[in-house]
Amino acid sequence: MMKRMIPAAALIVSLLLTGCGGYPNMSGTGGRDGNDIKNEDPKDNGPSEPSEKDKAAGDPDITYDDGKPFIDSDLKVNVTGSKCPDIKDDFHFAVNHDWLKGADIKEGFTSESSFTCAERNTKERAMSLLGDSSLAGHDAELVRSLYEAVTDWDKRNEQGIEPLKPVITDIAGIKTLDGLSDFICDPKRSNCVSAFVSIMNETDLNDSWRYIVYINNDTLLLEDAAEYAELTSAGERAYEAKMALVKAMYSRLGIGGDEAEARFNRVLGFEEKIAEVALTRKDFNGPDIFDKVNNIYTEEEIKNLTKAFPLQAFIEGFGYGGAGRYAVYQPKVIQRLDELYTEANLDVMKDYMTIHYLIYAADKLDRECYDLSVARINAQYGTTGSTDDEVTAYNTILKLIPEPFEKVYLEKYDAAEMKDDITGLCKDVIGGYRDMLKEEDWLSEETRTEAVKKLESMRINAVYPDKWQDYSALDLSGLGYLECCHAINAYNAGIDRSRTGQKVDKDVWTVNILQCNAFYNKQDNSINIILGILDDAFYGEDMSREELLGGIGTVIGHEISHAFDEKGSQFDENGNLKAWWKDEDHKAYGDRMAVLSGYFDGITGFNGTNVIGSNVSAEAAADMAGMKVMLYLAGKEPDFDYDRFFRQYASIWRTITSPEAEYDKLLKDQHPLNYLRTNVTLQQYDEFYEEYGINEGDGMYLAPEERVAVW
Ligand SMILES: [Zn+2]
Repeated sequence: MMKRMIPAAALIVSLLLTGCGGYPNMSGTGGRDGNDIKNEDPKDNGPSEPSEKDKAAGDPDITYDDGKPFIDSDLKVNVTGSKCPDIKDDFHFAVNHDWLKGADIKEGFTSESSFTCAERNTKERAMSLLGDSSLAGHDAELVRSLYEAVTDWDKRNEQGIEPLKPVITDIAGIKTLDGLSDFICDPKRSNCVSAFVSIMNETDLNDSWRYIVYINNDTLLLEDAAEYAELTSAGERAYEAKMALVKAMYSRLGIGGDEAEARFNRVLGFEEKIAEVALTRKDFNGPDIFDKVNNIYTEEEIKNLTKAFPLQAFIEGFGYGGAGRYAVYQPKVIQRLDELYTEANLDVMKDYMTIHYLIYAADKLDRECYDLSVARINAQYGTTGSTDDEVTAYNTILKLIPEPFEKVYLEKYDAAEMKDDITGLCKDVIGGYRDMLKEEDWLSEETRTEAVKKLESMRINAVYPDKWQDYSALDLSGLGYLECCHAINAYNAGIDRSRTGQKVDKDVWTVNILQCNAFYNKQDNSINIILGILDDAFYGEDMSREELLGGIGTVIGHEISHAFDEKGSQFDENGNLKAWWKDEDHKAYGDRMAVLSGYFDGITGFNGTNVIGSNVSAEAAADMAGMKVMLYLAGKEPDFDYDRFFRQYASIWRTITSPEAEYDKLLKDQHPLNYLRTNVTLQQYDEFYEEYGINEGDGMYLAPEERVAVW
């Protein structure tokens, strides 16, 4: 939903990351990479809280402590009452024992970790600004207006579903296919409506300094196209939850349950035909996704892509006509839309737009609609409860107008010193990699040279950007919540339109800097170590060199390694889609990854379920590369305190996670479970064995010939 709202380059990446939604207001260049440091936890920050079952010792039918070679110490049930293991047998558990025992999952979350702690600290500072009426300036005004729009329930309840009606009435009034085309092609009328296609400037995959106009298509109701061929339990939950919401929303509009259900099912039937030719989530996670979506069309070719569907009029109506060059994400979907664009399908297409809009708008209306929307999310993700108004307002502001909010934050909490620290550290790590790469003798000389070239042109995006998108002409004063969303979307669309044919400004970032994460961006060859992660175990201004290297240093090392992995190796030093590995190097890399993957396949998480090596191998290899480069830097330091360093590393991965979320990660996440990120990484390196005198027979021991680090 809301694809049309994404005005900048986050598009490719948002799809790669989540397959839906995205970052509606991000601006600037490049896209966020799928390779963040953080384990995915889709429920966190959503309206959720751990169920009673999570809080209790666990389900008697599930075995929690059968992990091999380490028990899963991310689970509270395995920590409570157990003795602290020896450091030589389970380093992660031993080092973090006291923290794990004392940690509890906070309401609204599925885990407690260094990430949630860092995020909470930033959030507390940021949220204290929301009610601060002394803050002056346009940015503060925007933040305040949106805050009021979200939290003023008297006004929201008074307005009821009125804010919904202009769009719903407009769609209902469409009588012919031409009338539908007029609606789709008018950015004012179809603002915030899923109207089959969306358009925005994106960094050109072939030339990272240039924008190209991208044509995309909507996310479907079941979110993953694969669900239409074979419904999984996730698809079933999405179906039930959205059906219930749509029926209730239709009832507010005076349309009965049977009719609403029939419309919903008809729309799903229509979507099924699109899904037949659409890329699935699995496709989006595949290594060849960039080639799949990089379909370039000339002006003439784009004109001929459709006959019935008004693609050309849409491009012109949205102000992108005459761009000369276009990229179409999924041409097969556009062609299928063209086939489906008939008078006979007029009603179902109107229902499609209406239903998608009802789902999008529900949480932005009165209390009744908001509660229905929360119930939908809870039903879909198996969570309960809802976040309080202040937190909802904070999340909304960060999502819709992050840059004005970040500027207000930085005015209050100066981070200039932090920016210097992190920039310096990134340079050190890049220097370490330069030396390290030269020693990787399994790579050919040419590939190593190319790798160093990539390293030398790597952009360091530390803490916060020096340049910001201009929001001075945006005015939200007096608007309701849904109206604010429409205004922001239209404003962002204007910014995006003005980029057509322009050079990409890589100094404007696409990322929300208050979130706790770090990532490598292939499309501009940048490492992004942003404000939100620089707290708790990761960073502190008073930290020793050992603590810095063991904390944020390993994260920086992790991110840089993504420049040289399966996906990173498809992009050159400028961020252009151009594979630079020789075939023999690619094969050698694949062989090493297979060994690593095989090792993880043999690890049991809990309840007899093993890790899926192929899921986690890329991120595990990045963790190990990050550790290796830190050990390289450590070797240059006089009297380096390795114990302090390794302990700091273990502390960044400490977590207590609900069994459901942990199981979900075990099956789906691209990152290993946290306790494995500590233990398996450290098992690979001699310095670790030497520091603690680890030998055969110790739990942490792995014979040199069995070690699996790729780098
Ligand atoms: Zn990563």
